[in-house]
Amino acid sequence: MSTPLAIIVHGGAWYIPAEEQESHKAGCREAAVAGFEVLRRGGSALDAVEEAVVCMEDDPTFDAGVGAHLNQDGVVQLDAGIMDGSTYQVGAVAAIERVQNPICVARHLLTSEHNMIVGAGATIYAQACGVPLCNPEDLVIEREHNRWLEYKERGEPPSETVFTGSSVKGTVGAVAIDRAGDIAAGTSTGGTPFKPEGRVGDSPLPGCGYYADNALAGVSVTGHGESIIRVQLARSAADFCAKLQAPAAAEAAMHMLSDRVAGKGGLILIDRAGRVGYAYNSSEMARAFMVERMDEPQVEI
Ligand code: ASP
Repeated sequence: MSTPLAIIVHGGAWYIPAEEQESHKAGCREAAVAGFEVLRRGGSALDAVEEAVVCMEDDPTFDAGVGAHLNQDGVVQLDAGIMDGSTYQVGAVAAIERVQNPICVARHLLTSEHNMIVGAGATIYAQACGVPLCNPEDLVIEREHNRWLEYKERGEPPSETVFTGSSVKGTVGAVAIDRAGDIAAGTSTGGTPFKPEGRVGDSPLPGCGYYADNALAGVSVTGHGESIIRVQLARSAADFCAKLQAPAAAEAAMHMLSDRVAGKGGLILIDRAGRVGYAYNSSEMARAFMVERMDEPQVEI
């Protein structure tokens, strides 16, 4: 029996002010449509996830690829990871510079001997794989440069309250299931604004920022990485799918994040039957999903 196709994407769980909600919705819509088109043409869940994440990395609305937050040194360092639920293969990069689409580097790593490469080594690996390199300043946009100047003047890094109190941007992620029932999940981010050089959050860590297991679910996570890592949120959400359907599993995982570590964030998931779920405890989470019976993605914030 063939599985119904489905994709869900997110553009971060933060406070998203009213005037920025349209661009977040448009970006999520475009990514969901592009990813679903890959599935419809017979592409794999991995291909669909990569395509959807690339769309959002190329969109300066989000904290991923171009437009990502700068670290304390004024540099964009990106993290991304992708997982194949049929083979448990993982590919991830962290603190990579000079690459607009770190998810593509992660995708190359997925079928390599190694799971994760960080820092300068990740940029060298990207070049060896033929992923285009850019100048560091190509990833910096005015909005983020101004934000960096503001933090620098203040002289202190933002605390966890950035997730509720100010208009920071969101990490991106996607989960898809293909005709064969294979599930994939991926996440890409510039991390938290004004992070120290080399700081890595949950996003590139399998089981924390993303997870995929054909027998359970695929999950992509966003929010306060330091809290998410402590409860391995993506793996926990997938485990809930052993007993619960996607929407209930997503809620249960978010309760765990709130109750155990008072963490803020959100997640999207697709369970093994192709059911879509999401949950968040931030004020907003940009998201879009499309399943086979729909002509248009459902886009929400
Ligand atoms: N989870 C990301 C991090 O902590 C940030 C986000 O999801 O917006 O790096």
